[in-house]
Amino acid sequence: MMAYPAPAGGGAAGGCETGPVPTQPARPDRLTYLDHAATTPLRAAARDAMLPWLGERFGNPSGDHRVARAARQAVDEARDAVAAVVGCRPGDVVFTSGGTEADNMAVRGVHAARPGPVLCSAIEHDAVRNPVRAVGGTTVAVDPRGVLDLDALGAALTPDVTLFALMTANNEVGVVQPVAEAADLVRRRVPGAAVHTDAVQAASWLDLRAAVAGADLVAISSHKVGGPQGVGALVARPGTPLRPLVLGGGQERELRSGTHNVAGIVGMAAALQAAADERAVVAGRVAAMRDRLAAGLVAAIPGAVRTGGAVGVPRLPGTLHLCIPGIESEALLFLLDEAGVCASAASACASGAHQASHVLAAMGIGPELGAGALRLSLGWTSTDADVDYALRVIPAAVAQLRGAKTHSREPAGQR
Ligand code: PLP
Repeated sequence: MMAYPAPAGGGAAGGCETGPVPTQPARPDRLTYLDHAATTPLRAAARDAMLPWLGERFGNPSGDHRVARAARQAVDEARDAVAAVVGCRPGDVVFTSGGTEADNMAVRGVHAARPGPVLCSAIEHDAVRNPVRAVGGTTVAVDPRGVLDLDALGAALTPDVTLFALMTANNEVGVVQPVAEAADLVRRRVPGAAVHTDAVQAASWLDLRAAVAGADLVAISSHKVGGPQGVGALVARPGTPLRPLVLGGGQERELRSGTHNVAGIVGMAAALQAAADERAVVAGRVAAMRDRLAAGLVAAIPGAVRTGGAVGVPRLPGTLHLCIPGIESEALLFLLDEAGVCASAASACASGAHQASHVLAAMGIGPELGAGALRLSLGWTSTDADVDYALRVIPAAVAQLRGAKTHSREPAGQR
C-alpha cells in the first residue's frame, strides 16, 4: 500500500470526533483501504501462481506442441480448482474477461438460445440489469430489508419465462439473497426456465458449493477475491441453453472464443482457493471488525442509519452500508480520501458522476437519505487499526460537512 501517494496534508492529526478531519496522515505507514467490494489487493498466492506466466512460461493452450500443452495443463488445473470451489464439474466452467462478461453471457446467451421473457431482481448489478433491460426484461421487487420478495417473484413467473437472475449477495448493502428458495420456486412453476446467480461479491465470503447450489448459471470475478483484474468465469450447468457472445476460434467448448488469459486464469484459481481455505477464520474476524465499525459510527454520527443490517437477515461479513442525512456522499468521499481512507458511495460512478442508487430506491430509501450513502467494505487485509482510524476520521468528516452546510445557510448578516 505504500506505493500510493501519502494522503494530502492540511488539518491537524487528532482524535476528536467532532473536530477537524485529521487530514495529516495520522497513519503515514499505510492507507486505510475500506473498498474491498470495489476491488481487492492481489493475494500473494495469486501473484506467485501468475509470475511464471508473465515471465519464462508462455504458450497458447490451443496449440499442438509442448509449450502449448504446458499452458493447456495450467488452464486445466485452474479449471479443476475453480470447479472445486464452486461445486461444479470442471467442464461447466467457461473462462471470461470478468464478472461483467460472465453476467452478459448468462443473460444474453440464454435469451439468444431460448427467446422469451427474462426477469431479474431489482437490486442486480448493472452487469445483469443492463443486459436484462437490453433484451426487454423486467425486475422483481425486494422488501425494505433488501431481500428478494418471493411472492413478487411468484406473481411475475409466467409460463414462458426463460431466465431469472438473482445475485448471491448484493454489492452495495451486502444482503445475501435466497437463491435456493427462488430457484426452487422457479423450478416448480416454470420447469424450463434457467436461474442465474451473480456470485461476484459472495465468492470471498460464502461457501459457493452451498450458496449457488440451486442455480444453473453462476458468475464469478477474479479481482473481488484477491486475483488479477480482467478475468472471471461463468459456470453453466449441463443442459442450460446457452449461445456464445464472442465468436471466433471456438475455445471454451465454443462458448467463449479467444486465446486464454493464462496468467489471469491461474491467478484467479489460486486466489479463489486461498479465499476458500481461509474463509472460516477471516470471515469471523472481519465480521467482528465490521460490527465494531458499524456500532461506533452509528453512535458517533447523529441520524446515521445502517442499511441492509436488519436483524436476522444474512449479509456479507465485510460490508457496511450507512445512509447519513445532511451530507452528500461525494463531499464525504473527498474528505475521507484526503485523510487516507478509501471508501465508496456504491452508486454508479463509472463516469465520475454519482447517480442515485437503484438498490436503495428498491429498498424504499428516498433520494434525500440515499444522497448520503457510504459503503465501507472490509477484507482479509483489514485490521483493527483501520477500524480505529475510520472511527476517528469519518464522524469528524461528517461533522465538518454538516457544519459547513449550516454555516452556508446562515443569513449573511449573522456570520
Ligand atoms: N457483479 C457484481 C455484483 C459486482 O459487484 C461487479 C463489480 O463491481 C460485477 C458484477 C462486475 O465484475 P467485473 O468487475 O469483473 O466485470
